[in-house]
Amino acid sequence: MRLFTPNEYHKTIHDIDLVKLYDLGKRLILTDLDNTLVGYDILLPTSEIIAFKEKCEEVGLKLVIISNNKEKRVQLFSEKLGVDYVFSAMKPLKRGYRKIASDYTPNEIVIIGDQILTDIFGGNRMGYYTILVDVINYNNEQFKTKLNRFFERIILKKLKLKGEKNDTK
Ligand SMILES: [Mg+2]
Repeated sequence: MRLFTPNEYHKTIHDIDLVKLYDLGKRLILTDLDNTLVGYDILLPTSEIIAFKEKCEEVGLKLVIISNNKEKRVQLFSEKLGVDYVFSAMKPLKRGYRKIASDYTPNEIVIIGDQILTDIFGGNRMGYYTILVDVINYNNEQFKTKLNRFFERIILKKLKLKGEKNDTK
């Protein structure tokens, strides 16, 4: 279960203690897009997300979007937000992470995401610090994601994470 267990769990990205991450030596945040920053149907960054990005920069953390979604979706959102991005990242495979994270050591890198089987599992495999957040909106999820959710519920039950808000390590 270790590879499925996040280092931290929070309701939303806004509950994450960014200063603590910096103090832990973290310098790069690789965040998922869909259902982590915004729901699938939100095409552009909201004012809350823009504020989150600015806070990351103030603290000294570089924010990059890493998404399994297609180029058009990820590019539009990321460019409006003003961050680097990887689309079609094929998380949890290692290829997408390597593409973006080569300037940093694994212990400087944080993963944020809403899916255990892609974001958390993938990040843990790379030796990154992983943060799970609650899904923003289950609507409009693709079949593959729905299937992942089925297994995710089983894992979450084992981890007893659902509905709680605390650090797990
Ligand atoms: Mg997601």
